[in-house]
Amino acid sequence: MTNKIQRNVFLLGNPNSGKTSLFNAVTGERRRVGNWPGVTVQKLEGTAKTETANLTICDLPGTYSLTPATPEEEVVLKTIDEAVTGCIVNVVDIANFERNLFLTTQLIELGIRPVVSLNCFDSFTRAGGSIDLQKFSTFTGTTPFPTVARTGEGTQNLVEFIGKPELTCIDDSTSCLSLPQVWLDAAEEALNLKNLKWISATPAQRYGALVDLIKLQPEQVVPELIEIRQNLAKKLSEGRDNPVKTTNLACELASDRYRRIESLIASCAIVPGKNIPAWQEKLDRVLTHRFLGLPVFAMMMAWVFWTTFSVGEIPMGWMESLVEWLSDFVQVNMQEGLIRELLVGGIINGVGGVIIFIPNILILFFWIALLEDSGYMSRAAFIMDRMMNSIGLHGRAFIPMIMGLGCNVPAVLATRIIDNRFQRLLTMLLIPLVTCAARLPVLVLLCGTFFPENPSTWMFTLFFVNLLVLIFLGQTTSMLFRTTENSPFLLEMPPYRLPTPSSVFHMLYEKAAHFIEKAGTVILAGAIIIWVLSVFPREVPLSFDYESELTRLRSNEATVETTEKIAMLTRQREIEQMEGRYMARLGKFIHPVMEPLGFSWRETVSLIPGFLAKESVVSTLSVLYLPYSDNLGDAMRKTGMTPLTAFVFMMFTLLYIPCIATLGVIWRESGSMRFTVLSLLVYFAIAYIVSYVTLKVGAILQTSPNLAWFEGLVIITVALAAGWYLLRTFIVTISGSRCKSCSSCSSCPSRGKSDCSGG
Ligand code: GDP
Ligand code: MG
Repeated sequence: MTNKIQRNVFLLGNPNSGKTSLFNAVTGERRRVGNWPGVTVQKLEGTAKTETANLTICDLPGTYSLTPATPEEEVVLKTIDEAVTGCIVNVVDIANFERNLFLTTQLIELGIRPVVSLNCFDSFTRAGGSIDLQKFSTFTGTTPFPTVARTGEGTQNLVEFIGKPELTCIDDSTSCLSLPQVWLDAAEEALNLKNLKWISATPAQRYGALVDLIKLQPEQVVPELIEIRQNLAKKLSEGRDNPVKTTNLACELASDRYRRIESLIASCAIVPGKNIPAWQEKLDRVLTHRFLGLPVFAMMMAWVFWTTFSVGEIPMGWMESLVEWLSDFVQVNMQEGLIRELLVGGIINGVGGVIIFIPNILILFFWIALLEDSGYMSRAAFIMDRMMNSIGLHGRAFIPMIMGLGCNVPAVLATRIIDNRFQRLLTMLLIPLVTCAARLPVLVLLCGTFFPENPSTWMFTLFFVNLLVLIFLGQTTSMLFRTTENSPFLLEMPPYRLPTPSSVFHMLYEKAAHFIEKAGTVILAGAIIIWVLSVFPREVPLSFDYESELTRLRSNEATVETTEKIAMLTRQREIEQMEGRYMARLGKFIHPVMEPLGFSWRETVSLIPGFLAKESVVSTLSVLYLPYSDNLGDAMRKTGMTPLTAFVFMMFTLLYIPCIATLGVIWRESGSMRFTVLSLLVYFAIAYIVSYVTLKVGAILQTSPNLAWFEGLVIITVALAAGWYLLRTFIVTISGSRCKSCSSCSSCPSRGKSDCSGG
């Protein structure tokens, strides 16, 4: 074997330009892509091999420009010096050519010559676009490759090229996108102040010089720079009617970039007009309508929950029979003993109790995958912006929130797309109140058992109450810790696309795999521990000599009556034994805390493993209720659980502390132990109060026969919503309305384009 070169390749580009798709195509990995920005927030790494090289491919978070506006974009700037030692692939969504070239221009200005992947080439040509690649290459000084990352078309050529030995990323020869001489001179002077030279400076240092030139706050500028900036402004003003002010340099630079981009495009490409198909525009008019948007969104969500429950019930029945069959099979074919008990009572019962919910989870994610892939989620984020604002959050916070439906952990990571630290923390605080998939089993189980006529309505109600709590918490927090900063809502509306079966399939596969993995590890371990605690100590003092009575009955003639009596006595003995075991002792010890909410000791202990993984609530209940009946729902009803307590229990499970993994990332991302512990206390307090109030109000409503259950709930909901609205109106009135425009750029000629902060 000849020596292969090792090269690090960095994928850089706008959000939603297809970086992760390209990454997947090149490395053969299966990372999450989504037709909306903000999906990749951490850098991903994978490898690819060519004949000449071993490549390490790094998928960076999407960024519109090098000017860091959010923590995820900062990652890109920090990596740039490292990146030029390898190879930079600039993924350009050619269907949005002009905007995407903004980043390319910034790179070229710093002397970087990226390999350009002209991605989404299929959409571009389909819309009637064409480009002269030769000219593009000559004018820009880069090597372009048309690609369709989604299918992998064209990516092979790209990979082979970046595997070539003689590849340099830094090159200061001129390109039509390079900095104009005036700017270059000023940057050179700015660098000289730091004893640096343009020619030998790193891209980050060059970038730093440019930032120094265009800083918006003159008071942050050292005196020597002031002169350089004034000179620059003077030179730029030559031949113009309105002189350029030093405070306007950022906008000058940004508009100059767009001028260069426009002339480049004019000279080498025919870009189809932004002719969004008429149907897409019509659809957008409905889906993002001021008043229609929200009800449409709510209806879609209702549909999602309804199918999750009702359609899911059928395969769930099959899964249940399968688990039952397995349990019977082991019962029959194994010798009696502790091992069999562990298998049946602990493992099959505990893990099986959770596994049966896979169909529901898959259905839920089938819809979410469709909504994401089609491009609808960005619209949803747009219509939610106003609602988000009303709880002091930025519209962007909607993305992590929706991700939270799957799992709170990546959702907390996704808060990196929020630039304002306060809003980021607030979003982090609220995410655990988004019902993740792990909480679904509890809901499906209890709604199905206690509200058999209309389970999905109740599920929706719970979600709704949950949402109200979320809004309330957000509202109060942002009211207490008011911030004035509010960045404008800038989220790209991707075109509607037909979801590909493979990406939907992969999302489902990922979810199922994650769930099964969790069932096989955390939940299994949890179920075994719970089982051990619920079968030891073996000897428990009993109130009655069951053994001799049973022996006596067994020696009698086997009539129907005696068989029934034996079954009953066996069960009673098991129940009494269960009451004497460690688990029950623990449960009874902490029970007084939860008793006011109407939970028995069994529900109380089940909340403890729920801290490790929420699914464990169900598997624990399955183990603890086994002596009462084979059917968990039946058993719960038999031991005195009512629809009201079931509802309160579900509510509590939804609201109380997030799982340990979520807390872990909250701690890491917030960097504050205090914040983490405080939010933990907040969740617990809220869960307790809300559950308690629901229990009391529910009990009152139940005793007054005229009021049906549902009406009661509606009344509470409306009262809460009205209270919230009044509070909000009050706050807005006393504090004046908020400014949402981008104040620094009101006179900027490139306003409305992707980047008006210059840099
Ligand atoms: P990222 O945000 O840059 O990582 O972009 P993703 O890889 O997540 O892709 C964003 C969306 O664009 C997804 O819906 C992809 O299926 C789609 N996409 C990616 N590459 C192409 C392409 O070459 N052509 C078309 N038509 N769609 C693409
Ligand atoms: Mg991505």
